[in-house]
Amino acid sequence: MRTGISELASKLRKREISAVELTKTYIDAIEKLNPTLNAYVHLTFDTALKAAEKADQMLKEGDAPLLCGIPMALKDNICTDGLLTTCCSKILEGFKPYYDATVWEKLKAQGAVLMGKTNMDEFAMGSTSETSCYGAPLNPINTAYVTGGSSGGSAAVVCADLAVYSLGSDTGGSIRQPASFCGVIGLKPTYGAVSRYGLIAYGSSLDQIGPVTSSVKDAAIVFDAIKGGDKRDQTSVDYDYGDSLAERLDRDIKGMRIGVAEEFFDGINPEIKYKIMEAIALFEKNGAIIENIRLPALKIALPVYYIIACAEASSNLGRYDGIRYGYRASSYTSIEDMIVKTRSEGFGDEVKRRIMLGTYVLSSGYYDAYYKKACLIREEINREFDAVFEKCDALIAPTAPNTAFPLNHKVTSPVEIYLSDICTVPVNIAGIPAISIPCGKDSKGLPIGMQIIGKKFDEATVLQMAYFYEQNSGIDVGVYEGGARA
Ligand code: GLN
Repeated sequence: MRTGISELASKLRKREISAVELTKTYIDAIEKLNPTLNAYVHLTFDTALKAAEKADQMLKEGDAPLLCGIPMALKDNICTDGLLTTCCSKILEGFKPYYDATVWEKLKAQGAVLMGKTNMDEFAMGSTSETSCYGAPLNPINTAYVTGGSSGGSAAVVCADLAVYSLGSDTGGSIRQPASFCGVIGLKPTYGAVSRYGLIAYGSSLDQIGPVTSSVKDAAIVFDAIKGGDKRDQTSVDYDYGDSLAERLDRDIKGMRIGVAEEFFDGINPEIKYKIMEAIALFEKNGAIIENIRLPALKIALPVYYIIACAEASSNLGRYDGIRYGYRASSYTSIEDMIVKTRSEGFGDEVKRRIMLGTYVLSSGYYDAYYKKACLIREEINREFDAVFEKCDALIAPTAPNTAFPLNHKVTSPVEIYLSDICTVPVNIAGIPAISIPCGKDSKGLPIGMQIIGKKFDEATVLQMAYFYEQNSGIDVGVYEGGARA
């Protein structure tokens, strides 16, 4: 098992290692592995070393927060003052924000050491990270396969131990699915639990920032550090979670009611289904009560998600006009021509496809038939989840219907990739929390992820169940050959 944040924090406090030394270990590992893995797209070693010096000072003064001096990474759609933030899109080429996202402001204040920004699908649209303008990151478990997406780089840096933890964003599975493909842990918090201020928007009613880590305890520690209301994000909620969640992971699961919905298992690769069933049996053996439940509306969750996400994206991406940010076409005849050329040259195919789809479903004449209908079905999905949570404490499901795709997998149509989001998007539609945790490997040796889904603001139960599984299944992330702690 890999050393977690608490163990590293204790070593830093005992001066067994300094934050600068720890940071240098990570720089060495990144320099060795990143040219192959392409997990980081912008490296911030200079600022990291300065932050580490400051962290050492904080540690010396005593009473430093747990995350002080710990090397970490941020997805490239999280704004960092003065540091490149490009969403892996040509249209944001060279863009350096002049403010920090709230999550980064919080972590920075605690002495976090940012190693760099991680690779992702352009504007977080995709499930393989292959739509990045910097080329795809490779899966550290087997470099012939994708990392998943859109937070593929954030999952890869944790998997290969090129960061102790990272932050990703999840609109329809982008934290959980890459975590499952790379065999690490990914938590999508309740919508509103973590501020989205400074997260470059994709689908604003679905987006949520969360941690990617190599242990459940680390996920709880990072969530503890980033959660909370923010007056700069009107959709955030200052929910009272009580004491630190990381201190409350031990819980007897006896009598806990776990829902299993057959709709989540439709069309799932049999090897994945088998591993999830094995995990469910472990919970049952230890006294949990398994409830077979139904979520019929899940069958239409995918079109609902793609209509709402694309509609919101088409509006959010309207701001990239060549005037306010990043890239501008080099020759044009008028302002209109400049905007059209900038957007045509700056956005990749997948982003354009979604802007067009979103504009279409919002246009008069189609609004009622698509967007409005999708919003109504969204309410129905919420009602079904509410009813299920009347009798269950949490649900167990696969994270994805498949393990990692081979790189450049022959995609016959984008819909084939969209279909693979079926297990994750319902959670964003309902705004509830879910974690993905490794639960074994398939016959090709690729990691399988299990999803634990909870009630709104009940991250505690989700983390406790994941912790129970991690402690009792014998499956953990493990040490990575060539990684910083190897
Ligand atoms: N794969 C989904 C999409 O492309 C989810 C992406 C995400 O969560 N950012 O929309």
